[in-house]
Order: sequence, then C-alpha cells, then structure tokens
Amino acid sequence: MRPYERKIFELIRETARELNYPTYVVGGYVRDRLLHRPSKDLDVVCVGDGIKLAESLAEKLRPMPRVTVYSRFGTAMIKHKDLEIEFVGARKESYSENSRKPAVENGNLEDDQNRRDFTINALAVSLNDHDYGQIIDPFDGLLHIEQKRILTPLEPGKTFSDDPLRMMRAIRFATQLEFQIDPDTIEGISKYRNRINIISKERIISELNKIILSRKPSIGFELLFETGLLDLIFPEMLALHGVEVINGKGHKDNFYHTLEVLDNICKHTSNLWLRWAAIMHDIAKPPTKRFDHKHGWTFHGHEALGAAMTPRIFKKMRLPLDEKMKYVQKLVRLHLRPISLTKENITDSAIRRLIFEAGDDIDDLMTLCKADITSKNPNKVKRYLTNYEVVAEKIKEVEEKDQLRNWQPPISGELIMNTFGIGPSRQVGDIKTAIREAILDGEIQNEFDEAFRFMIKKGKEKGLKVEG
Ligand code: ATP
Repeated sequence: MRPYERKIFELIRETARELNYPTYVVGGYVRDRLLHRPSKDLDVVCVGDGIKLAESLAEKLRPMPRVTVYSRFGTAMIKHKDLEIEFVGARKESYSENSRKPAVENGNLEDDQNRRDFTINALAVSLNDHDYGQIIDPFDGLLHIEQKRILTPLEPGKTFSDDPLRMMRAIRFATQLEFQIDPDTIEGISKYRNRINIISKERIISELNKIILSRKPSIGFELLFETGLLDLIFPEMLALHGVEVINGKGHKDNFYHTLEVLDNICKHTSNLWLRWAAIMHDIAKPPTKRFDHKHGWTFHGHEALGAAMTPRIFKKMRLPLDEKMKYVQKLVRLHLRPISLTKENITDSAIRRLIFEAGDDIDDLMTLCKADITSKNPNKVKRYLTNYEVVAEKIKEVEEKDQLRNWQPPISGELIMNTFGIGPSRQVGDIKTAIREAILDGEIQNEFDEAFRFMIKKGKEKGLKVEG
C-alpha cells in the first residue's frame, strides 16, 4: 500500500472513532487490492452519516479538499491525490418491478454487503479500532477471487431482475478479470435478459466499452451471445453468427471471425475506436451475402454498406457521432483497399489514392488489415503479411515523394475565380477536382507551378479566358 493511502486509512479511522461510526472500505477497491490491480476509487461505508464523515475527514487533510455532496443520494466525495474517495452511510435496499432504482433505508454493514452485486464485490475491510484491517467476507468472496469465479451473493434471478445492469457488469468483470461466471449465475442472466430493456443505452454502452477495452474482448462477446443479451443490445453483430451451406459450400462464421480480428487488434492498440473498427469491419456481410454458382459465397459491397450502417448503429447505441464515428466509418469503408493493392501490380496512383483517402489514419488502416488475417494456414498468413509489408513500404515511398497525407489543394477556389474572372460556380469545382485527379494519377506533381499551368489549360478547355 502506498504511504499516503495508509495515512488516509489512519485518518478515516480517527475520524470514525470521533464520530463513533463503525466504518469500512468496501467493494471494488478491496477486490482490486487483493488482485494486485491498480484502483483509484475508494468506497467507504459507515454506519452513520457518510456526508458528515467526509466533511470531518476533509478538515484533517492539508490542503483541505473540497467535499462534493450528492444530497439526493446521501453520499459525498473527496479527491485526494490520485484517489477518489466516496463516503456513504450503510444502507438497505428494496426493489420494485419497473425500475432499477431501489427504495433505500439506513442499515448496517450486513445489509450493505447484501445489496452488492457479486461475492467478489461484497468484501469489506474494517477501519475500526477493535478489528482494524480485518476482512469481513460474508459470501466467500475471498475464496471466489482465488477460484476466479463470478457469482451473486443472493439468488441470481432476483439479483438480475432487481437491477439488470448487473448482467452487463457480470460479463464485464468476467472479461476484465478473466474469471468464469458460475453456471446458475449465467442461467439467471439468460432468464432475465429481457429486463435489460429497462437500462439506459448509455449505461449499457459504458459497460460494453469496458469489455472492448479489455485484453481479450471475445470473452465478453461470447458471453453476451451465450446469454442472449447480444441480440438485445447489438443485433447487427449477432447477425454475423452462423454458417450457411449451399451445394456443399459454406462461408466462414463471421461472428467468430470478427472476434478473432478484435482480439488480434487488441494486441496492437488500446485505441477504443480502432477496436470498434475491428468490430464493425464486416458488419454488412449478412445483408450483402449472395451465393453465386460460379464464385460461391460473395459479400460484394459490404465495405460500403458497412460504412453506411456505422452512423445508424452508433446513433442507436448512443456512441458518439463526431469524428470518432467518422474515423470508424472510414476504416470500415477502406478495409479492403490494402488487400486489393496486394493483388494487382501496385501502381503509384493506387497508393496515392489510398493515402489521400485515409489521411493520417493510414497506419491504423494497415493495423486493421493485418488483424483481419485469421487464416489457420501459417504459409498463407506469412504470405499475406509479406504482401502488406510491400504495400507499407510502397506507401512510405510514395508519401515521402508526394506529401499527400492530409492533402491541401495547391490551387484554391479563390485563385481559380480571380484568374478567370468568374464567380462561385460549378466550373470552379470541376477545375479543382480535375487538379486533384491529375495529382493523384501522377499526371502532374503535387506543387503550385504545375498545378497552376494545369488550371490554365483546363480553364481554356472550358472556354474560359485568363483575366487581364
Ligand atoms: P470498476 O471500478 O472497475 O467499475 P467497481 O466494482 O469498483 O469496478 P463501481 O461501479 O465503482 O465498480 O462500484 C463499486 C462497488 O459498488 C462495487 O464493487 C459493488 O460492490 C457495488 N456496486 C456497483 N454497482 C452495483 C450494482 N449495479 N448492483 C450492486 N452493487 C453494485
């Protein structure tokens, strides 16, 4: 334990003694300490007034921290160094049918531990003089940490039906900690899965993103699939599941393929949005799937349709619709381009177009493409990777030569208008496009003089005259 954490615990003990409140650290902090995982959130429960405890403690700290009081919840929070300490009076909860918000009354430590979601989250450590530092473990949470198990302290059905967010939390913890969920806890989730509908989309996505940010997100997605939650929260991903066979020809199961790509990419990036691009890259395979007697299964246009589906899915799931969505959309749209470059004789012009379209995200696109290699044949994998190396090398070469990343047109619309003495019009746009295309095709260099001469030529072809 870090010295200032020890100091904080000592001060809480002293304050609790003065107020005569039995006081404990509970929940995630205790679990994470036992698992040697870093934890910055400290939950302190007292049998008494949590806000008063926080305020009295704050007076002992230098510099004196601000106490943020959430009077509606009867809780208070202090930030001290990198710790966020939350104080609350022990409580007893009872739930009604239509809400995950329980009726709350004052209770003792036991009541408070009973309302916790999983046995590993129900551990408390005493901060009281007579048993300072002792672990209070009414549901064998310590044993379950050792056994790497997730189970509910009370009957699973009731736990999940009371607060269905716990279903997502169970799967999130199983993924983050790489623990197994007990069979009857899984059963409880499956049985009450439809209750997830009373949970806000924001809370669901926040848990899903934690799953995606784990070392191996496939653990979570497989559990979401197994319990039937995936259909309710992300049906487009469920649609990837399954193999259809016609004339003895099957295609690959795109759900498991996507999970492999996702796990692969997680070894190379902790960027949530690049991970989302891996999830979304084949999302339009089900709606574009066709069987062709000559070519077998095809998914023509899945990259374009996938890009079109991205904003719709992001909106529905309450994911951001800003540049993060556009980034995912772009990677989905471009994810086949580097492969097609490995198949043909690579021309500078094709490379230039890719750099132009991908901009700064070209390296992330290559990371996605490499993660997309899920062949079980090591020779094929080696060949594909070598092909990508060739493309990457070529990209570097063309880039150094042409400086096309985040390309800005060398000739502005204003200059075109002034040169030919015309106002804003379609002709201006046409000339700009022609200049860009000529640069991308390698017809002219990406620089002012050549582009200017080209502009004059194009303008004249259109019957325009150079002003004065
Ligand atoms: P993390 O910090 O990774 O989210 P955590 O376990 O600390 O994990 P918090 O959401 O901070 O999660 O919750 C703190 C504690 O509060 C939990 O350990 C658990 O005991 C309890 N808790 C949180 N949410 C619920 C819930 N929906 N139902 C029951 N208990 C909960």
